[in-house]
Amino acid sequence: RAYLMKMDKSYRTAAVVLAAGSGKRMNAGVKKQYMEIAGRPVLYYSLKAFEESFIDEIVLVVSQDEIEQVQESYVNQYGFQKISRIVAGGKERYHSVACGLQAVRQDCDFVFIHDSARPMLTQEILQRAYRAVQEEEACVVGVPSKDTVKIADEQGYVSVTPNRSLVWNVQTPQVFSYPLVYSAYEELLQKEQELLAAGVQITDDAMVVEYLARHKVKLVEGSYENIKITTPEDVQIAERYLQSR
Ligand code: C5P
Repeated sequence: RAYLMKMDKSYRTAAVVLAAGSGKRMNAGVKKQYMEIAGRPVLYYSLKAFEESFIDEIVLVVSQDEIEQVQESYVNQYGFQKISRIVAGGKERYHSVACGLQAVRQDCDFVFIHDSARPMLTQEILQRAYRAVQEEEACVVGVPSKDTVKIADEQGYVSVTPNRSLVWNVQTPQVFSYPLVYSAYEELLQKEQELLAAGVQITDDAMVVEYLARHKVKLVEGSYENIKITTPEDVQIAERYLQSR
């Protein structure tokens, strides 16, 4: 029995929850991660999903000047027990991810990197991603694109139409073997100037693992409800989803 229990719990898992963005596209006074939806701040919902899951540790990444206030509300008031550290993020999302990865306990096996702006995270999504990462070491949650996608040229004309059955919209969590993603981000920071000079834009974690660790990344089914709150109309959609849960 003791052996079986150890088997169940043989991996150590962490979540890095990103909330250090400024939410410029929202045009609101309050940053989107702290905006109230269905009675709670956006950030609350994904923390709750991780708190209730198999995850062992949550590292929360916020702006330097919000650390104290976040500690007060999320650890003291809401009582999230799995938040092990609250650390300051950086200028770009990938800087914040790097800060989060550095704060995770070093004996971690798998890390779930998640945008706090996605409050619709569910246990089913976490389970699917967890199963996939144990097989593949690198996976991202996403959904097949419903729209036809066009790649434009610099002048705004259609240049390429990818085969729609192969186009996915990717979401978070993006989940990796911890040593794999840690070393990919270390390399990214070393090569940052070179990549910026070449015009590379780093918008998700899968890119870092694909390009720098040269490791294949598996796509795992997320959900069409797992939206990222970015612009004001997303707030109303999320409100409807969260109220009907
Ligand atoms: O701006 P975008 O919607 O792509 O941000 C995705 C997530 O990354 C958000 O949850 C945001 O708070 C976080 N982020 C961050 N640090 C940054 C930029 C974004 O933690 N410098």
